Amino acid sequence: MTVENILSKLVAFPVLGGESNLTIINWIKEHIESHNITTTLMPDEAGNKASLHCRIGPAVDGGVILSGHTDVVPVKGQEWDTNPFELTDKGDGKLYGRGSCDMKGFVACCLAALPNMIKADLKKPIYFAFSYDEEVGCLAGPELAKGIRTFYSETPKYAIIGEPSLMEPIVGQKGIYILETYVNGSAGHSSRIKQEVSAIHEAMRLILWLENKMNRLIEEGRLDERFHPAHSSIHIGLVNGGIAPNVIADKAHFYWDLRTIPMDNPFTIVKEFEAYCREREQELHNIFPDFKIITKENHPSVIHLDTKETDDVVDLVKRISGNLKLSTVAYAAEAGQFAAEGFQSAICGPGSIKQAHRANEFIDKNELVKGMGMMEKLIAEMSLSDFS
Ligand SMILES: [Zn+2]
Repeated sequence: MTVENILSKLVAFPVLGGESNLTIINWIKEHIESHNITTTLMPDEAGNKASLHCRIGPAVDGGVILSGHTDVVPVKGQEWDTNPFELTDKGDGKLYGRGSCDMKGFVACCLAALPNMIKADLKKPIYFAFSYDEEVGCLAGPELAKGIRTFYSETPKYAIIGEPSLMEPIVGQKGIYILETYVNGSAGHSSRIKQEVSAIHEAMRLILWLENKMNRLIEEGRLDERFHPAHSSIHIGLVNGGIAPNVIADKAHFYWDLRTIPMDNPFTIVKEFEAYCREREQELHNIFPDFKIITKENHPSVIHLDTKETDDVVDLVKRISGNLKLSTVAYAAEAGQFAAEGFQSAICGPGSIKQAHRANEFIDKNELVKGMGMMEKLIAEMSLSDFS
């Protein structure tokens, strides 16, 4: 099957992040196994989602993991000119469909290159690692990376995450952590503002604390110029609370996200914030004993990627992609999760992130050609007896 044939099969599975991916993962499994390669599924607890991994080539240390996700973002509310779940060639050099670029294009390249991987005399193995629920917070990545490290007797060295990067090697990614904070105050007539605890007033204080925390980090010179912006950002994206102008709000909540540069630890920031919350609770207890601030995870934190320019994976990805320029990104991906398991990791894949997540998502046919070119170069590299 050509890469386009495979891509059109993959796009036809409308598997959104958060939903069961068994249809698409079983199709991939059967496709790989029809080439006599053994695959391993890693189901979630409920058994309606699964990641897949497999090895092509010898069971020796030093292989490369090719990682992709099988889920896509929703199309609801978007104005598509074509059926998003039918790969459409309009004759303009682009292939339209949800996931065509993010990131079934890369998965299709992996599968289309499989026969050549098998035929080649690989000295070092290539692994496929296909996950689910990436688009709802990279939920399956950590377990999949760990599963590969523990399942095989040998240890892979590298992981290439094929997120759309126009085939540019991406070596840095900010950490992302999304939280929700709930403030429980006491209701009353607005004139009694000093006798009650307004959940809104307190929520605003917490929000300002967070903004000031971000500014303090900047003032302290905690900057990493590889990223834009170069500092960790703290942002409140949703606030809710209150019922009327003359009623003191007893409930308020807000959602916030932390996007941290590798030198900042999101958990330390949250710990400091929690300490400030306990201070506020202490201070207002005599006015309202049940005053409480609770912060919960909205999404588990997605760890940053901080690959050094001197790491071998950088040279490898430069060689096989043909691109020398390194970049960083601000979106979440599984790359940091693979790096956390000890695999040198970089993001590099066909298609542009600009086309991801929007109506009329497409991948340039040229990008698929480049993606296949990268696979061929990888196969050649891995067939060298002195590949390291
Ligand atoms: Zn993606």
